[in-house]
Amino acid sequence: MDINPVEDRLNRIKGTLHQIGSQPMTIENRAALQGIQKDLDGLTQDLQLSHEQSRLAALYSVSQALGSSLDLDKVLNQVMDAVIGLTHAERGFLVLLEENSTEEWRLRAARNYSQETLQTKDMEISRTVIGSVIQTGQGLLTTDARSDPRFSEQNSVVFYALRSIMCAPLLSRGKPIGAIYVDNRAQTGLFSPGELELLNAFASQAAVALENAWLYTRTDQALAQRVAELETLAQVDRELNKHLDFDLAVEITRNWVLQVSKAAQAWVLLIEDDLKNDPFVSFPPGFSEPGDPLIENALDDLKYQLAPAASGSLSRLVVPILHSSKPLGVIVIDRLQPFTPLDAQFLSHLCGRAAAAIENARLYQAVQSANQAKTKFISVVTHELRIPMTSIKGYTDLLRQGVVGTVNEQQLSFLNIVRNNVERMSALVSDLSEISRIETGRLKLECSLIQVQGYVEEIVSSLQPKLEEKKQTLDADFQPGLSPVFADPNRLMQILTNFVSNACKYTPVEGKIHIHAYQQEQSVRIDVIDNGIGISPEDQTRLFSQFFRSDDPAVREEQGWGLGLSVTKLIVELMGGNIGFTSAYGQGSTFWFTLPTRSGEGM
Ligand code: ADP
Repeated sequence: MDINPVEDRLNRIKGTLHQIGSQPMTIENRAALQGIQKDLDGLTQDLQLSHEQSRLAALYSVSQALGSSLDLDKVLNQVMDAVIGLTHAERGFLVLLEENSTEEWRLRAARNYSQETLQTKDMEISRTVIGSVIQTGQGLLTTDARSDPRFSEQNSVVFYALRSIMCAPLLSRGKPIGAIYVDNRAQTGLFSPGELELLNAFASQAAVALENAWLYTRTDQALAQRVAELETLAQVDRELNKHLDFDLAVEITRNWVLQVSKAAQAWVLLIEDDLKNDPFVSFPPGFSEPGDPLIENALDDLKYQLAPAASGSLSRLVVPILHSSKPLGVIVIDRLQPFTPLDAQFLSHLCGRAAAAIENARLYQAVQSANQAKTKFISVVTHELRIPMTSIKGYTDLLRQGVVGTVNEQQLSFLNIVRNNVERMSALVSDLSEISRIETGRLKLECSLIQVQGYVEEIVSSLQPKLEEKKQTLDADFQPGLSPVFADPNRLMQILTNFVSNACKYTPVEGKIHIHAYQQEQSVRIDVIDNGIGISPEDQTRLFSQFFRSDDPAVREEQGWGLGLSVTKLIVELMGGNIGFTSAYGQGSTFWFTLPTRSGEGM
């Protein structure tokens, strides 16, 4: 409502009154007075309406401001400012119920209260008022507390001469979550039922804003906590995945559990025996309660177990270490502060990550020791086989040469079969002992700078009889000015022998073999190209693995153990080179390797 029309109307009334006052009371004047009365009634009504409108406008603008903020403290302070502004109260404050409590509340924002007052028992009256508002969920109003039987007896009313008091509950989904309290010490009748209605309306708006801010804060906190947890888990993963050492994996897990749970002590108990009754063969140092039923329950239910903490004693959490739903053991954690289900869930996640690393480390350890046992076995067997094979070879040769008497044709052919087979066995024994020497680091290389050309030519001439047997042609070309390679000459011969003899074996009669040697960055690359049987895509995936031989009949009719390529690969890599092949089934293959041109190059 505009102020000018009100003023105009008042001025008009004043003028009329002035006129009437200076005249005798006539019928007309009486009628004029009645008109004034009507005008005044209208004005009063309009003024009330305008008051109501301005309060609603204030309420609207405040609720809009509240809705735009999600910061809980900011919202609470905005609420109190608006309340004081709207009700013209002297002082006021806002309380919120403690989480999960219907009685305990905490002061969250106050206006015009001194810190001392807030802490003394002068708050008694406010406590009574708030207590009743929170309990009933209804607003409360007193126009003069001194004469209100509900409060007049209270010390603080008497002492502070409290007069007007108003309090409205903050309701969320019908349930009180707090209250807004305002009072005035000097004026009686400051607040009317209309004012309480306004406060109630405002409190319900504020409660919604609070609820939102609360929800946001909680979601925000939950999100931040989840992010922090995921970061921790990623860190745990990184640390665990760095090693494949079993004991280290267990220790890293224990340290993380201690750090994350802030526990006094934690033990990792791993199942060493599959016997259900006694899964643990040994216990870590300091662990003195092997019979704790929580451990058994955790292993049976495959779920964490929380022990209800007796006052003053440590709380215990037992988390199973599960890998693919199979328990590897448990982690027992003791701490003073009780564990919440959220703590337990997070520690369960952490143990899940640890389980994978522990299992991997365990498998790796098992593979390592199996490998060691295998290498040891091979080294013993090959050593033991060498001596009798040398003597079989020697005596067969003596027999074949007729040193101990003439041998007939049939005997000679039998002796040749024996000699051939001993040759095959000795090839196998030497490949096996080579592998075991490389794997145990016992193969010593004697590397120097050497030109490959001379060695290639030597190999070609040594394999010439075999090539001629199959009427195959072999030519070689060398890039001019090829750098020498840093390699062990005997090993270079071994590699070339394997590649060229394979090319010869797996290329049909009258086939073509070509050797091409050229510079490639800091290495020399040698390609051995044949137009032989080629390798099927399926076989290509298995090449270089020990004992692999293709099922192709053309392969099976040749002699071999399937060890040559794997030994060759180990040797090439030991000398700092690379090895590879390309092949098209039925058309031919190219096997290649590189050797560094300088010491340490390509390693
Ligand atoms: P071996 O020749 O004793 O069988 P290798 O380890 O040297 O053992 O070779 C493994 C397998 O790779 C061979 O059995 C054969 O199936 C395949 N292979 C190797 N070289 C060639 C080649 N040049 N052409 C076709 N297949 C080959």
